[in-house]
Amino acid sequence: MSQPSTLGQASHGIRISAVSKMYAGTSQPAVNDVSLDIAPGEFMTFLGPSGSGKTTMLSMIAGFVALTAGRIETDGRDISRLKPHKRDLGVVFQHYALFPHMTVARNIAFPLQQRSVPKAEIAARVRAALELVRLEQYADRLPRQLSGGQQQRVALARAVVYQPRALLLDEPLGALDKKLRDQLQREIARMHRELGMTFIFVTHDQEEALTLSDRIAVFNEGRIEQVGPPAELYERPATLFVAEFLGESNVFAGVADGQLAVVRPERLELSSRADAVPAGHPQRPALVTDIVYVGNHHRIGLRFADGTSGCAMRVSGAPLPAAPGESVIASWTPAHHSLVADSTTTRTEHQSPVGIG
Ligand code: ADP
Ligand code: MG
Repeated sequence: MSQPSTLGQASHGIRISAVSKMYAGTSQPAVNDVSLDIAPGEFMTFLGPSGSGKTTMLSMIAGFVALTAGRIETDGRDISRLKPHKRDLGVVFQHYALFPHMTVARNIAFPLQQRSVPKAEIAARVRAALELVRLEQYADRLPRQLSGGQQQRVALARAVVYQPRALLLDEPLGALDKKLRDQLQREIARMHRELGMTFIFVTHDQEEALTLSDRIAVFNEGRIEQVGPPAELYERPATLFVAEFLGESNVFAGVADGQLAVVRPERLELSSRADAVPAGHPQRPALVTDIVYVGNHHRIGLRFADGTSGCAMRVSGAPLPAAPGESVIASWTPAHHSLVADSTTTRTEHQSPVGIG
């Protein structure tokens, strides 16, 4: 365990109110009327495809990009127009910007020296930060003598050592290979628990978002489509975009008027006969196109009568309901579908530009 008394501090919330960003020379806002309350100590993730406005939103919180409209507060104080270093926020980006000529310990001490922290306290805090990221043995190394993952840990230590109000992380694991990424994910989750600090984490990786977050805000074209805990977003997607961005889904028309029913693969039942489906359960005939073994489960590819494709999931060891090329009846319990507006409706809603209407 590290020493929360040395590095931990009271948590702070962040309130984002009607924030927009229109970059000069562009016609579409990069961030479009975003409002979000981030609770003290929360692990909040901005998830979305490339270009959806995540980095722009995080950069406005950090103070690197000016707001076009709206305000950002920490603890009720408007910080929208403060210089980055006055906001008291820790920042870690994908490309670790460590000082190459300074040792690990001096890199971590740097923000404390800038803040004129007394020498003895600097030593204690650097030690605690090194312990937090498990790099005690590496204090005297230069960045180039470390692996990519270790350099990113140094960046993490340097970002939290001066006890910022919150830690902002923009795809910090994006440059690492899968195994290292998984390992650092667990480290970041542990750091969050030990520090109790507010974290805002940006990623385009849905699995990373589901694993780490207290809540996820799903970004699409500069707007937040939905905010909620991982299970809620997965089980109850509010829009087609959220359903399709987080995991796989089957999308069915004709279940409810003007809406689509979204059914997750593990909720889809497959039977050989229609009369085996319980009364009141929606059902669709399908063709099994392929079955793929994915280690802990089989993914059963389906094509429905209307030409759309989908899939079901069976844990390994469970009997498979059919073979490729065979027909099945797909069905589900109505309680297991989420009704969403179809994408054409969603799109018109989302097209009004900043400052109009
Ligand atoms: P994300 O981090 O989700 O990939 P960004 O915030 O980087 O998204 O980008 C959102 C949109 O803003 C994109 O369309 C991008 O091209 C545009 N954008 C980002 N930075 C600038 C800039 N400095 N000038 C003009 N447009 C920009
Ligand atoms: Mg980005």
